[in-house]
Amino acid sequence: MNKIGIDLGGTKIEGILLDDKLNVIERTRIPTQQEKGYKSIIDSIVSLVDALKTKSNDTVSIGVSAPGAISKKTGLIKNSNTQCLIGMPLKDDLQVTLNQKISMDNDANCFTIAEATLGAAKEHNVVFGVIMGTGVGGGIVINGNVHRGRTYIAGEWGHHTLRIDGNKCYCGKLGCVETYISGPALEKRWTKLSGKTESLASIIKNIDDTTIGLQWKKEFLENFAIGLANVIDILDPDVIVLGGGVSNIPFLYDEGRDYVYDKVFSDLVETPILKNQLGDSAGVFGASLL
Ligand SMILES: [Zn+2]
Repeated sequence: MNKIGIDLGGTKIEGILLDDKLNVIERTRIPTQQEKGYKSIIDSIVSLVDALKTKSNDTVSIGVSAPGAISKKTGLIKNSNTQCLIGMPLKDDLQVTLNQKISMDNDANCFTIAEATLGAAKEHNVVFGVIMGTGVGGGIVINGNVHRGRTYIAGEWGHHTLRIDGNKCYCGKLGCVETYISGPALEKRWTKLSGKTESLASIIKNIDDTTIGLQWKKEFLENFAIGLANVIDILDPDVIVLGGGVSNIPFLYDEGRDYVYDKVFSDLVETPILKNQLGDSAGVFGASLL
C-alpha cells in the first residue's frame, strides 16, 4: 500500500505520496487560503489527495497533520492558529468527503514520528520530539508508534508549569513552558531587558558580548533545562530531537544540553539532544507515517 501525507499549515497545504518503501513518488503544495474559510480548506485537501491518487499504482493510506489538537472528548479541533478550524470536525468531514478512513494528528506528533522513522532519531526506540517555534509542543514515539496517552495529551510539555506565579498563558494557566521559550516569548523578554525589538536570529548573534545578553541567555537555558529535565526524569527517552525556529540556535546543543544534564535526577545522564534532520518536511512525512 502507498501512503499519502498531508501537512495542513497556516499558509500552505503540502501533500506527499510515498511507495511502500517510503520513497517519494510525488510531492506538491498549494496555498491554504484561510480567508476563504473552512469549506475551502476541505475542498483544497480533497483536490490535493485526488491529484496524488492519480499518481499511485496501488491503494493508499491517508494521514493528515493538523495545526492544533484534536479533542478526544469531542473529535473537534482545538487550540489551532488556523482560526476557521477551531471547533470543526475536520477528521470526520474529510473521511466523509474522501469516502475513506484517515489518520490525523497534531504537528508535534507528526514531527516526532517523522524524525523517529526517517530523521535524526532513526536509530532510537523511545523518542521525545520537541517543537519550539511560535508555540511549544512535543510528542512521544515508542518503537515507531505515536504514544498519545489516555486523553491524547501525551507529550504536551509546552503547557506544563515552569513557574507557579509566572507569565500568563493563552491556555488560562500561569507560567507555562511556552510563555518562556517560544520564539515570541524569547523576543519579548529581550525587548524587556534591552529596550530593543529584534528577531531571535539577530538577538543571538553577539549574545555573549554583553551583560544583558548573558542574562537573557542564562534565563533561557535555565527554563529550557527545567522543562526538558522534567521530561527526562519522567520518560527517560533514548533521544530528544528539537524542531521549530528556536531549534536553529546552536548553543542549545552544547551549553543548553549541559544545563539540562545538571538538572536531571541521576548520576548518569547521556540523553542525546539533537537537531532535527527533516526541517520543514517533517510534517508531511510524519502525516504519511501515522
Ligand atoms: Zn499554557
